[in-house]
Amino acid sequence: MAEHVLVIGSGGREHALAWKLAQSPHVQKVLVAPGNAGTADCGKICNSAVSVSNHSILAQFCKDHNVGLVVVGPEVPLAAGIVDDLTAAGVPCFGPSAKAAQLEASKSFSKSFMDRHGIPTARWSSFTDPQEACRYIRGADFPALVVKASGLAAGKGVIVAKDKDEACQAVLDIMKDKTFGTAGDTVVVEELLEGEEVSCLCFSDGSTVAAMPPAQDHKRLLDGDQGPNTGGMGAYCPTPQVSEEMLQQIRTTVLQKTVDGMKEDGIPYVGVLYAGLMLTDQGPKVLEFNCRFGDPECQVLLPLLKSDLYEVLKNTLESKLASDPPLWLDDSAAVTVVMASEGYPGVYKKGVEITGLSQLTEMGLQVFHAGTALKEGGGVVTSGGRVLTVTAVRPTLESALHSANQGVAAVGFPNAVYRRDIGHRAIAYLTRTRGL
Ligand code: AMP
Repeated sequence: MAEHVLVIGSGGREHALAWKLAQSPHVQKVLVAPGNAGTADCGKICNSAVSVSNHSILAQFCKDHNVGLVVVGPEVPLAAGIVDDLTAAGVPCFGPSAKAAQLEASKSFSKSFMDRHGIPTARWSSFTDPQEACRYIRGADFPALVVKASGLAAGKGVIVAKDKDEACQAVLDIMKDKTFGTAGDTVVVEELLEGEEVSCLCFSDGSTVAAMPPAQDHKRLLDGDQGPNTGGMGAYCPTPQVSEEMLQQIRTTVLQKTVDGMKEDGIPYVGVLYAGLMLTDQGPKVLEFNCRFGDPECQVLLPLLKSDLYEVLKNTLESKLASDPPLWLDDSAAVTVVMASEGYPGVYKKGVEITGLSQLTEMGLQVFHAGTALKEGGGVVTSGGRVLTVTAVRPTLESALHSANQGVAAVGFPNAVYRRDIGHRAIAYLTRTRGL
C-alpha cells in the first residue's frame, strides 16, 4: 500500500528529496516539515507544521498520518538523536544514529576515527586550551593553518588562515570570544592541504556502500572563486577531471573503510555518508564528513538518479543494498545554480517578489526552492539567504551549464546574486584535454 513520507527540513536539498520521492509509486504523499513555498501544495507534496524537535510528538504524528518513512535533511536533528528516538518508537527514519552522526557533529571524533582506521586526512591536533593551540600552531613543522570549531557551526566554523598570527587569532575568536558558541569549546588545528576539492557521497546500510557519482560544490560567493565563503553557490555532477581510478581509490580507501571502521567500532553507519575531499599530490584526503546529503550537491545528484529513491532509502534501512545497487543516469550531466539574496552571506532583505518560475518547467529545467515563502494573495517572495536553485540535466556539462544559466536569466528576482561559472574547473579540464 502506498504510504506517506515525511521529509524534515526547509532548503533546496529537502525540496529535491521531496520531488524525487514523489515520483515513487510507493509514495502517496510527501509531507515536508517545515518546507518552503516550493513544497507547499505541489501535486503529491505539501508542507506540515508538525514540530520536529519534540521526538515523541513527532512519532505520534507519524503514526496518526500513515507516515512509513521519515527522511532527515539537515545535520542538527540527526545529532540530536531523531533517528534513535523515532526508530525506538517504531517509525522508520532514514539517517545515522546520534552516535554515528558524530562523524560530522564532532570534528575531533572524526579526526581520531580516521587516524585509528588509517583513513587519509590532514595532520591535526585538538585542544581545549587556547594557549596550547597557539603553541602547536607556532611549533608545527607543517603549515598548521586551518582552525576548526569541533562542533556543529552551520558550515561556518572553519578558518583557513594566511599565516600563523591569523591562525592564532582564529583560535582566540573561537575559544575566547565564542564566535561559534559551545561548538568552539574544542578546536581542531590542522595542516593546510592544497589541491582540488570534490564531494563523494554514498548510501551505506552499515556494511555495503552504494557510491553516487562525484560532485563539486562552489563555496565562494562570486565568479572565479572570489568573495566570502557561503553554504554553496552551485554544483555539478559528474566531475570529468576526477579519473575513474581516483574514484575507485576514494571508494575503497575512504567510503568503504569508513563504513567498515564504524561497524568495527560498534557504531554502524546507516544513511548518506558525504566525504568532502581534497585531491592532493599524495592522493585524496578527507577534509570533513557530513552525515547527510550536501546542499547544493543533492540538487544535482537526485535529478541524475534513475532508481526509485524511496526503494533505495528503504533498502538502505533494511540492509539490502548489496542486492540492489542504485542506478545513475549514464552519459548525462547536471548543473545547479543557486540564486541568493543581495547581501548574502551577510545581512539581506526578505519579502522580495520572485516571478518567472513557471517558465522554467517549459524550458525543461527544475527549480528547487530554499528561502522562499508564499505571499498573501498569491505569488512567491524571498525569505532567506539562498533563495532557490535552478537545475539542468543535459547530455554534456557545457549544455547543462548553458541551460541552467538561461533558466536563471528567466527568473525575475531583483538584485539576485548568482555565479555564472559553475563547473569552470571541469570545463577548463575538458577544453585542455580535448585540445591535446
Ligand atoms: P570543512 O567544513 O571541514 O569541510 O571545511 C570547509 C572548507 O574549508 C572546505 O570546503 C575547504 O575549502 C576548507 N578546508 C577545510 N579543511 C582544510 C584543510 N585542511 N586544508 C585546506 N582547506 C581546508
